[in-house]
Amino acid sequence: MLPSLSPTLQSLLSWIRTESPTHDAAGVNRMMDLVAAEVADAPIAMERVPGRQGLGDTLVLRTGPERDEVAILLMSHLDTVHPVGTLAKDLPLRVDGDRLYGPGVYDMKGGAWLALQAFKEAARKGSASRPVVFLVTPDEEIGSPMTRPLIEDFARRSAYALVTEPARDGGKVVTSRKGVGRFEVQVEGRPAHAGSRHQDGRSAIREAARQILAIEAMTDYGRGVTTTVGVVNGGTANNTIPQHCRFGVDLRAETLADGEAFSRRILDLKAHDPDVALTITGGMNRPPYERSEGVAALFEHARRLSAEIGFDLRDVPRTGGASDGNFTAALGTPTLDGLGIDGDGAHTLEEYGLLSSIEPRRKLILRLLETL
Ligand SMILES: [Zn+2]
Repeated sequence: MLPSLSPTLQSLLSWIRTESPTHDAAGVNRMMDLVAAEVADAPIAMERVPGRQGLGDTLVLRTGPERDEVAILLMSHLDTVHPVGTLAKDLPLRVDGDRLYGPGVYDMKGGAWLALQAFKEAARKGSASRPVVFLVTPDEEIGSPMTRPLIEDFARRSAYALVTEPARDGGKVVTSRKGVGRFEVQVEGRPAHAGSRHQDGRSAIREAARQILAIEAMTDYGRGVTTTVGVVNGGTANNTIPQHCRFGVDLRAETLADGEAFSRRILDLKAHDPDVALTITGGMNRPPYERSEGVAALFEHARRLSAEIGFDLRDVPRTGGASDGNFTAALGTPTLDGLGIDGDGAHTLEEYGLLSSIEPRRKLILRLLETL
């Protein structure tokens, strides 16, 4: 049931009805069409950058004074992790009290939508304190392989970056995130019949098992470093000593130095069995987003604005999940993230956003655009 939501909110519902998993470029582009239609009658300049590598397009929206001045960079992504069909089956659009359920409502269509309303209002009133660039991207959920250079390019020319990833734990914003590394390990052994020629075989899975234990043992919670082997593939049959095994590694680190040191440790792993070959590729995908002085000052500013609006803004302790805010913060651009909708259940079939969080957070973004 969808009770009488305000007419403006109907546009958010149509966003959620438009399924847009990252690798469905057509779906993501339909989302970009909806955004383009929504800004058509506002004093906003729009550039549409065509997608590549099977990904959707990117929108660059601009408003604010036409001065040669560093900008405020606002960033939202419109891809989701939910495959097409989720809406019809596992996560239908519905309202339950204050909760609006639907694929991508929390991560992060709700946040992108409320930021767009704030951006439009600043454009109409001509009230932005400096030029504002709103970057709407199609590939965040896979690590932004296509848009990273664009994001970094804008970050270098921006005084601040505001990211509308979901709010945490009752409306908290994000002021630091761990960095993320991704690695692929390929193990090649020697196949043999498990019965008649066991001694001739060199098991790729046995070697992988030892490597996996070594990698997982690098986890050091005190230092804020974690390592996870999340996917393993190997072997062909129960009666065959496996020639191949491959697995993926996820590394999280709080500091740039640890990101590099642990990447090195993973890349330098050597096979225990001299007859087995180990090939390791990968590295840091998103650098850590550290709570610098600039980040802390930006947060304090947002906190004062929130108090004027009527709520108490807090930030969460460093979160393990990364976002495009990692790219901007690592370049030294003070970054405030988690400005999106409050709710819970990101990347699950219980994903929802809180309707009551939309208006105060829209106002906060508007006030940030007017005062930074
Ligand atoms: Zn997200």
